Amino acid sequence: AKIRVGLLFGGRSGEHEVSINSAAAIAQALQIGENGSKYDILPVYIQKNGVWLAGDTASKVLETKTPLSTEDTNPSQLWQFPPQVQEVEVWVPVLHGPNGEDGTIQGLLRLMQVPFVGSGVLGSAVGMDKIAMKMAFAQAGLPQVKYRAVERSQVWSNPCIFPKLCDEIEADLGYPCFVKPANLGSSVGIAKVRSHSELETALDSAASYDRRIVIEAGVNARELECAVLGNDNPKASVVGEVTFEGDFYDYETKYTEGRSQIHIPANLPDKIVTQIQEMAIQAFKTVDAAGLARVDFFYVEETEEIYLNEINTLPGFTKFSMYPQLWKATGINFEQLVDQLVQFALEK
Ligand code: ATP
Ligand code: MG
Ligand code: MG
Ligand code: MG
Repeated sequence: AKIRVGLLFGGRSGEHEVSINSAAAIAQALQIGENGSKYDILPVYIQKNGVWLAGDTASKVLETKTPLSTEDTNPSQLWQFPPQVQEVEVWVPVLHGPNGEDGTIQGLLRLMQVPFVGSGVLGSAVGMDKIAMKMAFAQAGLPQVKYRAVERSQVWSNPCIFPKLCDEIEADLGYPCFVKPANLGSSVGIAKVRSHSELETALDSAASYDRRIVIEAGVNARELECAVLGNDNPKASVVGEVTFEGDFYDYETKYTEGRSQIHIPANLPDKIVTQIQEMAIQAFKTVDAAGLARVDFFYVEETEEIYLNEINTLPGFTKFSMYPQLWKATGINFEQLVDQLVQFALEK
């Protein structure tokens, strides 16, 4: 009998649309070739209000790649899962950002006692929160840019403390620096700042996205990414590079066709490639990731310095996304990759 795969997508996140695109590609890959005779897919769409829908409505969202508009949520709807959910034998969560990449869905699936692709509760949560992630990486001795963590309450509550806090950050990190909400993705809410007044504005804005905020010293560096696949003995892919016009790799640059390019493999000395692959696996293990992750780096060519930027435990997964492209260049095509991920979930 075929294995019943629950494809979970959409979600209560700023990356809802990205998730639909990733899920459409994965759904297709699960239906063709050998995968088609192995797997039977149940698409399950999580609306922007958090309500789960299965069946034809979910399939339609995948086909049209268009989110459904939502009405106000009745809290009781949030616990009314579609009945087909009970038949799922393995889940493929394709949710990016909050309420999907951060351990919340992983906790729910674990309570259901059904295996799922990707990191568990701990790996997802540590990988999502940039402050927790940086602390874990620091403890593991992984190189990172200089940073500060601040709380929303420091930004908003006391008008006397805030300017002083900005003075301190300025003295510590200099300009440019990057202000980031700790728990988002796709560059949502991130600002590159170059002055005291921009710093104040950016912190105030970041505080509206998240209770926890990170400020990092800016580096002028190449951006490299490495894909990791596996559970207890994870493997690293070849290394890729992202280039783009513009100030930094912001949301618009990421998702506007033609604004950024990926280069696989990146043109790098072998020694640097090896170091990045080792660091990617170390980062994966440090946060207790599983299944898949994309690990992002900054590389300063002149000094040969490598800084670990972040781990993404549910990276973008369209045909054109970096993660599947890195594996393709390493010898695992899209269909094989999706199959391996499901198999890693079943063996976990
Ligand atoms: P993703 O979509 O990969 O999850 P994210 O929202 O987690 O991204 P980051 O990767 O932390 O965000 O930062 C987004 C982009 O901002 C980087 O790719 C880079 O272009 C720029 N950037 C972030 N931090 C720095 C830094 N310290 N120095 C230089 N550029 C930076
Ligand atoms: Mg990220
Ligand atoms: Mg992300
Ligand atoms: Mg990133």
